[in-house]
Amino acid sequence: MISAQLRDAAMVVDLKALKHNIKQQQAALPVNSRILAVVKADAYGHGAVPVANAAKEAGVDGFCVAMLDEGLELRNAGIDRLMLVLGLTPVHYAPIAALNDISLTVGSTSWLKEYAELAKHESLPPLKVHLALDTGMGRIGFQSVKEFKEALDLVRQPVFVFEGMFTHFATADVADDTYFKRQLQRWQEFLDTVDQKPPYVHMANSAVGMWHRETIAANTVRMGISMYGCNPSGHELPDSLDLRPVASIIAKTTFVKHLKAGESVSYGATYTAQNDEWVATLPIGYADGYLRRMQGFKVLVDGQECDILGRICMDQMMIRLPESMSVGTEVVLMGTSKDKTLFATDLADYAHTINYEILTSITPRLLRRYQD
Ligand SMILES: *Cc1c(COP(=O)(O)O)cnc(C)c1O
Repeated sequence: MISAQLRDAAMVVDLKALKHNIKQQQAALPVNSRILAVVKADAYGHGAVPVANAAKEAGVDGFCVAMLDEGLELRNAGIDRLMLVLGLTPVHYAPIAALNDISLTVGSTSWLKEYAELAKHESLPPLKVHLALDTGMGRIGFQSVKEFKEALDLVRQPVFVFEGMFTHFATADVADDTYFKRQLQRWQEFLDTVDQKPPYVHMANSAVGMWHRETIAANTVRMGISMYGCNPSGHELPDSLDLRPVASIIAKTTFVKHLKAGESVSYGATYTAQNDEWVATLPIGYADGYLRRMQGFKVLVDGQECDILGRICMDQMMIRLPESMSVGTEVVLMGTSKDKTLFATDLADYAHTINYEILTSITPRLLRRYQD
């Protein structure tokens, strides 16, 4: 897919802010703590390779991706350090991980057995493995201590390197910590069964790194949404780190007109002007990931809030200007304009979703522009 260079619309990615956010998390953890930068889904839409390079500069120990292809993209771009695939990989693709020094998540003994069988016929470097423990997330991983113990034996075979064990919390971002504590207790039961701990023992996502720091085992944080400057809970819990938003969305007006009272705008003619007003068109739409359901939301022009008028189109949208302004005026759809900011969380609230989905919805067509 092309990334449009020849129009004035972009996601601006502030890599200084990204490094600042990582340093904030580092400063809040004991010395010798480790951070794994979560760069799955093209670094939550920010661009995996530039984000990974900036995170390296800020001193992260490694990276987490969701699937093997994402790990390969980073290895092919020359990104070294630990690279963990958080999702499950079919056994027949696992040799590609071994050959590229990518660590895989494993959640069953049958997987380990099948891989050991496959690998003994080939000369492969040992595969680095992290055992996933399901302590209550209910997604992937060992649920019983019995099967986990069996896995501990299997993973000591020479075809494997037992590099890590981890779990994932379902409710670390909500005020009520009852379920969190239950998961923590379950995690502790698993930990107690391991005599020789692997080098990476990790259980913290952004929310644990923000609100449950005292519980972090082995001091490793898998830092995702907070690295991008967003609060994992939306508004439920207050920021406990000084986070700066990394992504902004900006566009310049391509057309400005005077609309007379009674005239309408966009598909369905759902908006009709009550008074004479100035209207501008922007070269960005829902095919760029600015969701169609943002109809009626606002943007910022020169520090002033302006309404989005009528339906958002695939490639364009219209806004009401406070006064006549020239074509080429800069408009902020997400981010800061003078003393006003539209946060990803504000867009998410309006669209009845979460800041994660706002960021990952931005499509590759919208140019990413990096600031350092
Ligand atoms: C996506 C993911 C993370 C990162 O979550 P954030 O809430 O963005 O910090 C951490 N761990 C696992 C297993 C994940 O899938």
